[in-house]
Amino acid sequence: MSRVAYVAGQYLPHRQAAVHIEDRGYQFGDGVYEVIAVVGGHLVDEAPHLVRLRRSLSELRIPAPMSDAALRLVIREVIRRNGVETGIVYLQVTRGVAPREHAFPKAVKPVLVITSRRSRPADPRLGREGIAVITIPDIRWQRCDIKSVALVPNVLGKQQAREARAYEAWQVDRDGHVTEGTSTNAWIVTPDGAVVTRAADNAILNGVTRGAVLDIIGCEGYRFVERPFSVAEAKAAREAFLTSTTADLLAVVRIDGFPVADGKPGPLSRKLREAYLSHATAV
Ligand code: PMP
Repeated sequence: MSRVAYVAGQYLPHRQAAVHIEDRGYQFGDGVYEVIAVVGGHLVDEAPHLVRLRRSLSELRIPAPMSDAALRLVIREVIRRNGVETGIVYLQVTRGVAPREHAFPKAVKPVLVITSRRSRPADPRLGREGIAVITIPDIRWQRCDIKSVALVPNVLGKQQAREARAYEAWQVDRDGHVTEGTSTNAWIVTPDGAVVTRAADNAILNGVTRGAVLDIIGCEGYRFVERPFSVAEAKAAREAFLTSTTADLLAVVRIDGFPVADGKPGPLSRKLREAYLSHATAV
């Protein structure tokens, strides 16, 4: 089945799907995006993703390209046309096309692009054995709560992780606290058993998976605290893990080459991973 993209009102084969060279997303990174998982034909946590999209748009003062009801229909049509049972949907909204000038153009319409692709289920070894992270300085801007398409620091960080044979890079702020990964939220379990993740301030993206896992933690009655934690605290933690739409929940078993506890996924990370996977597969 050949791939089809929705581009500014039209469904087009990927070969013909293109945006204008003066699209402000291309020239300024002036746009926002969302990635929603498709599992067994259904969208995982679609509602909070659409809420976050609206928030990102309104923070950048980009008008919504269509109503949420219309957006839901287009998303489903893109999934259907691409025959995606398990994979992802990518939505991107930029401020639009106009002659290059930093300030907002007067008459400009937001440009919506939606693509969808199948993905193979993640390597089960990652879930079983956990993954390694490195730590790097957080060189991003002060509005990481906006899901902006301007991702160069995240790209550089992920590449650094790959070159270090790690899955992710945890970014560290000037106070020595972990903010988040380049495309994932960061968590630890303290030696006395409390789950800790940074509060959703301007320094991190408020992950939809983070929200779902916090709900599970609340329902199961585990102790948790939303506060910053340092790299030293993470290295001395009982467990560590990360969350995102595409990674689900993965145990972090090495930080900068040091094993976390015994270097194996801990019991709480395993339980929370199972609970999150059932949440994601529940229709
Ligand atoms: N932080 C960053 C910087 C991200 O790019 C992502 C992935 N979108 C996340 C956290 C996790 O967010 P979510 O759980 O909504 O995928």
